[in-house]
Amino acid sequence: MTEVIVECTHCDNVLDVEEAESPERDEDGDVICDRCYEELYRDDCSRCGEIVDKTDLPTGPDNLIIMMEETDSDLPVGYYRVLRRPFFVDGMVCGWFLKDALQRVADLDKQGQYAAENRYTAAGPMCRHCQATICATQEPKDQQ
Ligand SMILES: [Zn+2]
Ligand SMILES: [Zn+2]
Repeated sequence: MTEVIVECTHCDNVLDVEEAESPERDEDGDVICDRCYEELYRDDCSRCGEIVDKTDLPTGPDNLIIMMEETDSDLPVGYYRVLRRPFFVDGMVCGWFLKDALQRVADLDKQGQYAAENRYTAAGPMCRHCQATICATQEPKDQQ
């Protein structure tokens, strides 16, 4: 019996038997290992930590992001609505947020505070569920 060796086209690692049975593929259709797939297409929500497809962490206009640390941009921590892109400029050493591209919508709630304590970035994208949760708490305010 010959064992078929399947290699990841990105990192050249040999896929384990389980992965090789139904391997993930990149957008060109090339076989990639689970780890590369996660890196390429999946990321974690900065608020709840859930690992989801990157397309489910939208940061386009009208989406919400979480700001977990006061940065040089002088934006207090909280939830922000993206008004336009880009809202972040990458500098040589660090980047900064563009104040007029972001609108503050809410203070961090309990889960946001917890995320901020365990953060590894100053700000981050949120999954659709978290965005909807924050939006829901904002609606009554908007209608006033
Ligand atoms: Zn790989
Ligand atoms: Zn989330």
